[in-house]
Amino acid sequence: MNIKQNTDKPEVILTGDRATGPLHLGHYVGSLKQRIALQENHEQTILVADMQGLTDNAHQPKKVSANILNVVADYLAVGIDPAKTTICLQSQLPALAELTMYYSNLVTISRLERNPTVKHEIQSKGFERSIPAGFLTYPISQAADITGFNASLVPVGDDQLPMLEQTNEIVRKVNSLAGHSVLQECKPLLSDESRLPSTDGKNKMSKSMGNAINLGSTEKEISAAVKSMYTDPNHLKVDDPGKVEGNVVFTYLDAFHPDKNYIHQLKAHYQRGGLGDGTTKKILEECLQDMLQPIRLRRNAFLNDKAYLVDILCKGSQISREKTSQVLFKIKDIFGLNIF
Ligand code: ATP
Ligand code: MG
Repeated sequence: MNIKQNTDKPEVILTGDRATGPLHLGHYVGSLKQRIALQENHEQTILVADMQGLTDNAHQPKKVSANILNVVADYLAVGIDPAKTTICLQSQLPALAELTMYYSNLVTISRLERNPTVKHEIQSKGFERSIPAGFLTYPISQAADITGFNASLVPVGDDQLPMLEQTNEIVRKVNSLAGHSVLQECKPLLSDESRLPSTDGKNKMSKSMGNAINLGSTEKEISAAVKSMYTDPNHLKVDDPGKVEGNVVFTYLDAFHPDKNYIHQLKAHYQRGGLGDGTTKKILEECLQDMLQPIRLRRNAFLNDKAYLVDILCKGSQISREKTSQVLFKIKDIFGLNIF
């Protein structure tokens, strides 16, 4: 992986995941892989965003609360090390909620309605005009998360770029109100696979759409997901030339297969004709089974020790409470509210 930033100067990194379901292959290539590398020489915090998860799940809060530890187990199973990365829980950091309130006065409703990711989510969730206020304003809360840790680098999938733009707009407004630089702007760190498609190829893989291969998927689930994968609908006979663009099997082989040269040759064979979808799916299934089996075993072991997972979150939240309170103090100062 190519991290373009200057590693001499450690970046402050903040990323997170909504606690709306177990993590999936999209998370793995979109951000987890980068976090595993970044924790070696940067100050990294990962936020389990339970409050943000509630913005479209308040009618089913268990969906969020029941997934908090699943997400922590996923982190540990892929190699996030709590000795190197601080893992914390958003609802345990009141400074973030306070920052959200202050920033809300700096953003207009029409600006929020223009956010392309939120617009797309409103449509796909069928909210129409019944949009929870918390959902429309979640980009402000995300700005509070990022600035609350004074983060300079945010490893994300490309659906999050509008959130970073919104964050930097708030940063500029805060700095201009203060008359000097209080907050720093953040940069995204995109991976090569910044939007892994779902197995049907129709959408991005997402927890909320039930279209994901989870990191904890069983052998049978992985096998069924690969068998049902979208390929090239015009590749009817084995001898027909096939298309690799938009063919989800090849998108996944590109993302996960360790031997890039072999995949290059496989693609050429498929394009020439003579290579069946059954064969390419078998190659992909083997690759995913090999990759996910050890992750699944570690994940299950961690989930058998819930007290350990709670302890990690509790310690990480304690450290994070201190950091975020310091930023809140500076923002209250700008508004002249540190009276006592
Ligand atoms: P939800 O459906 O609840 O929004 P999600 O699957 O979109 O869940 P998030 O918690 O919203 O996951 O996203 C956490 C991080 O993972 C973000 O940085 C996001 O860009 C990245 N991510 C999520 N899905 C993908 C994907 N399919 N490909 C690449 N990155 C992804
Ligand atoms: Mg999402």
